[in-house]
Amino acid sequence: MDYDAIIIGSGPAGATAAMYLGQAGKKVLLVDKESFPRDKICGDAQGRKAANILRELGEEEGFRKLPGHNVYGITMSSPNGTLVSIDITSRDNPPPGYCHRREVFDEYLHNCAVKVVEFRNLMVADIIVENGFVRGIKDVEGNEFRAKIVLAADGANSMVARKFGLLHNPPEHFIVGTRQYYKGVTGMTDRIEIHLVKHLLPGYFWIFPLEDGTVNVGLGMIVKDMNEKKINLKAAMLKEIAENSLFVDRFKDAEPLEDVKGWNLPLASHHRKNHGNGFLLLGDAASLIDPLSGEGVGTAMISGKHAAKTALAAMESDDFSEQFLSVYDKNLWNEIGEEIEANYKLQKRGKRFPFLIDKLFGKAAKDENYRKKLEDRLPYTSGRQEMGSDEFIEELQGQ
Ligand SMILES: Cc1cc2nc3c(=O)[nH]c(=O)nc-3n(C[C@H](O)[C@H](O)[C@H](O)COP(=O)(O)OP(=O)(O)OC[C@H]3O[C@@H](n4cnc5c(N)ncnc54)[C@H](O)[C@@H]3O)c2cc1C
Repeated sequence: MDYDAIIIGSGPAGATAAMYLGQAGKKVLLVDKESFPRDKICGDAQGRKAANILRELGEEEGFRKLPGHNVYGITMSSPNGTLVSIDITSRDNPPPGYCHRREVFDEYLHNCAVKVVEFRNLMVADIIVENGFVRGIKDVEGNEFRAKIVLAADGANSMVARKFGLLHNPPEHFIVGTRQYYKGVTGMTDRIEIHLVKHLLPGYFWIFPLEDGTVNVGLGMIVKDMNEKKINLKAAMLKEIAENSLFVDRFKDAEPLEDVKGWNLPLASHHRKNHGNGFLLLGDAASLIDPLSGEGVGTAMISGKHAAKTALAAMESDDFSEQFLSVYDKNLWNEIGEEIEANYKLQKRGKRFPFLIDKLFGKAAKDENYRKKLEDRLPYTSGRQEMGSDEFIEELQGQ
């Protein structure tokens, strides 16, 4: 056998798995069809999950120094346009979140990974399967590489997930998002901005701060709603910028730095099978994006950690069967399942009862104590289980 493990994709999921396996002394081949730095269409926000994993791997300090923007809170607007700003933590504390362009963030993760594993810049064309077990990869030129286990972190259009019939998401569990970088947007702060525009719910429009006055602007919408409302996402995003009274003045002198780009977000509200004989699926390849916030980097990195730990246990037991590898799914969902479920509930409720969001924001805008109560229950923080709970929604309905 050439390697202990082969990892396809050096995005957040694959690079994280590579760091855990490499630091454990395993012989790992990490491959990616792109060389780094490379762009990835994203909102560019990273929350506590990413920082926690990097701390565990001893790579947090470099992450905190990357060019980007510290994030201390969230400004949100409700469907009727009520604005609320919430500071998640005091500026005296380390920031709970960051915005780093993925070109920068992913290169950092990749560089950390290649300190401890071998990397090859190649495109995987196929998977080697023998006696019902995945045994390795084949590149576009027909070269073969073999390993005890293959970790597929090859993103939302995963070739490996497709090969095993595991790629499909129903349209209500799938978001399409746009991104366009701008300069010259006024009124920026050290908070990320999430705007719940009424006719696009439960999709949202975001404005995230980056370094040197650059701003990441985007719009994400569930594919089912987009199809039903016959919305052209790119046009809808540009229309918000041009017509929504919250943004018109702020974008008056702004300059787009690129065309509007788009990409897919497979949601974790559709819990997909993520393992089989000799392989595991990680990150977007396993559909792990938060259905409320669209946060996928953190869950991708958490899946990288659990995939590496499962692979280490499989090597220890010399058992790479689907049954043995099912512990990956169990451990991963023990960590992320409760939050995903709560957020899926909130996402559905927000869509059915937009007036509840108006009510929540109206109350928060007027009442400082209530605003404080919300602080640790918002996207990119912890504590959202509580916000998706029946008690919380009932309390709000009763106000
Ligand atoms: C518009 C938009 C906005 C988003 N905003 C946010 C946000 O603000 N915060 C957040 O946390 N998440 C956000 N997400 C989600 C986030 O981008 C993903 O969840 C995250 O990138 C998943 O990481 P990954 O490692 O699984 O996959 P990826 O980052 O997609 O990495 C996959 C890697 O696999 C490689 N690859 C693919 N196929 C092959 C092949 N055949 N051979 C070799 N290599 C291959 C690719 O080149 C790539 O480097 C957003 C997504 C979109 C589309």
